[in-house]
Amino acid sequence: MTYWKNYHLPTSIQEAVNLLTQYNGQARIVGGGTDLILEMQQGRQLPVEALIDPTQIPELNQITKEEGYLVIGAGVTHTQIVADKKIVRYGTCLVESCGVIGGPQVRNVATLAGNVAHALPAGDGTISLLALDGEVQIASDDGLRWTPLGGTFLGPGKSAIDPTRALITRLRFKPTGPNEGPSGEGSAFRRVMRPQGVALPIIGMAVRLKVENDAFVFARITIGPAGPTPFLAEKTMAYLTGKPANKQTFSEAAEVALAEVNLRSSRHRATAEYRIEMIRTQLPKTLAQAVARAKTGKVVPEGVGM
Ligand SMILES: Cc1cc2nc3c(=O)[nH]c(=O)nc-3n(C[C@H](O)[C@H](O)[C@H](O)COP(=O)(O)OP(=O)(O)OC[C@H]3O[C@@H](n4cnc5c(N)ncnc54)[C@H](O)[C@@H]3O)c2cc1C
Repeated sequence: MTYWKNYHLPTSIQEAVNLLTQYNGQARIVGGGTDLILEMQQGRQLPVEALIDPTQIPELNQITKEEGYLVIGAGVTHTQIVADKKIVRYGTCLVESCGVIGGPQVRNVATLAGNVAHALPAGDGTISLLALDGEVQIASDDGLRWTPLGGTFLGPGKSAIDPTRALITRLRFKPTGPNEGPSGEGSAFRRVMRPQGVALPIIGMAVRLKVENDAFVFARITIGPAGPTPFLAEKTMAYLTGKPANKQTFSEAAEVALAEVNLRSSRHRATAEYRIEMIRTQLPKTLAQAVARAKTGKVVPEGVGM
C-alpha cells in the first residue's frame, strides 16, 4: 500500500503554500509523521498524492524572541524545546509537557506544530501552549496570519487548520516574565499516566499564573482530556483572581475545577472516580509548583525525558 506518491521538502514558506495550491487538496502537510503515518497505516487517514514537509525550512527550524514573544518554528521538535533555556525559564510548562511525549525517538522528530494540528484534547504540548495563552501563525493562499490557539480546536482530532490547504508556520506565547530573577509569573505541567507500556494519559494539566503580594493576579488552567477539545478551566481561573496564593486556595481551586470538568470513565485511561481524585490531588500541587517558581524565579523542570 502506498500512502503518498511524492514527498516534498520546500525550502521556503511560499514554496510550501504554492505546493498546497498546486495539489489543490490532494497533498497534506507532515511534520515528524509520528501521528500521521500511523493513522495512514491504520486507515484513519486517506492516502494522498503528496506529503509536504516544512520542517527543513530554515526559518521554521528555530526558537527566537520577537516582539515580546517566544516564537517556535513549525519544524522545531520536542527535543529542541526541552533543550531551550529560554523556554525552560519562561515557558516551563511547555518543557515539562514536551519532555514527556513518547520516548526520545518520538521527541527527536515530532513537532509541537504537529501536536497542535492533531487537535487531541489531551495533546501534552497543546495543553501547555493553551495554558500559556499561545497563538499560531497560519500560512495559506491568503498570506500569513496569527490566531489564538484556543480557536483552532473544533473537536477530537479536528482542527480549524486544514493541512491540505494551509500550514502552521510558527507558534508563540508571551514569556512568563521579562528578566532574570523573580517575575511574579510562573508555569507548571503535570500528567498522570499508567507506569507501564504504551498508554493514554489518565489526566494532564497545565497552569500559567501571576502572583503579587501573595495573591493571584491571574491564573490560566488547562486540563485534558476533559471534553472534546483541550479544556480551559475558565470558572477556576475566575475563582482564583485576587485569592491568596496558599494551600487552602489551591485545594478550593481543585473543587471548582471538578465542578466544571466532565470526566468520563475510560478503560484505556481510568475510572471517572480515579480521574477526579487525580485532579483533587494534582491540581493543587501544580498550582503550588507554579507559584513557587513565580515567587523565586528558580525553575527546575520536572519529569522531563521519563
Ligand atoms: C509511540 C508514540 C508515543 C506518543 N506519545 C505521545 C504523548 O505522550 N503525548 C502526546 O501528546 N502525543 C504523543 N504521541 C503523538 C505524537 O507524537 C505527537 O502528537 C507529536 O507532537 C505529533 O507531531 P508530528 O510532527 O509527528 O505530527 P505529524 O504526525 O507529522 O502530523 C500530525 C497532524 O498534524 C498535521 N500537521 C503536522 N504539521 C503541521 C503543520 N506545520 N501545519 C499544519 N498541519 C500540520 C498533519 O497533517 C497531521 O494531521 C505519541 C506518538 C507515538 C507514535
